[in-house]
Amino acid sequence: EKKLKYQIVTEKFAKNFLMLRKRDSHKGNYGKANIIAGSSGLTGAAILTCKAALRSGLGLLKLYIPESLNTLITLSVPETVTVPLHEMRKGVIGINHINRIVEDSNSVNVLAIGPGCGNTSEISETVRRSILDVKAPLVIDADGLNALSKNIKWLLEREGEIVLTPHPGEMSRLSGYSIDEINKNPIHIANEFAEKWKVVLVLKGSRTVIATPDGSVYVNINGNPGMATAGSGDVLTGIITGFIAQGIEVYKSAILGVFLHGMAGDLMAEKRGEYGLLAGDIVDGLAYALKNLT
Ligand code: AMP
Ligand code: MG
Repeated sequence: EKKLKYQIVTEKFAKNFLMLRKRDSHKGNYGKANIIAGSSGLTGAAILTCKAALRSGLGLLKLYIPESLNTLITLSVPETVTVPLHEMRKGVIGINHINRIVEDSNSVNVLAIGPGCGNTSEISETVRRSILDVKAPLVIDADGLNALSKNIKWLLEREGEIVLTPHPGEMSRLSGYSIDEINKNPIHIANEFAEKWKVVLVLKGSRTVIATPDGSVYVNINGNPGMATAGSGDVLTGIITGFIAQGIEVYKSAILGVFLHGMAGDLMAEKRGEYGLLAGDIVDGLAYALKNLT
């Protein structure tokens, strides 16, 4: 079996990817992101993803949300612009809004789809149309990945860049490998998938592997088991989205995002311990991680 070369992500390495904020700048300089996240019962996923994206330093964030969830989102993350969308089914974005979302997303720097969306035909169609028609980079997570697993060939028609952020269960559905095989061989499996489908693959775990379409592999080793908690992945999706919005190259945003997510979790675990760590703490920790890194 061939031995694969990979690089460990270091603080110095991540630091080189971050952009300085110029004294003479305004929010337009820090990029725009669109996010599709949240559904009835999973509103918290949208809140965490948005908070994390905003904490990464992006300029403007827009969230597409089923209209019945709008008040809760706005109260929880007032910094997010929301687009409340009419529901044909309770708590799910109506299918008739997809054209508008796709068109809008061609005027922003990145579109993220998936956290807490629910495993619905509406989200499946949104993923399909975004892969086909949104030229901006895409970040696909959670329920977005579940839709993609059933239709992996959609990726053959993708022209723009795309980041997928599966945990081993989602990776198993995407790739057909068992969770056991993935955990035994994450580097090989991530590398093979990223090259085959031309995606930036973020295979999450206690050590997250980032694999690029051209065959490079990076392994992140910070973070702690306190981060094995509900919503942790939604925070990572927001962070990566926020960095892409700011104009950092897509694969670098993935690496930087994973590193800062781990660093944020480590900073907060130092204060609160691993047992009590919540995903929302990782969002708070991100501000300090960025402060320490720059
Ligand atoms: P998700 O399963 O989508 O919520 O994602 C979980 C997130 O937490 C990923 O970013 C994982 O890398 C991270 N995570 C989970 N368990 C650990 C662990 N034991 N050590 C470090 N990071 C972890
Ligand atoms: Mg997740």
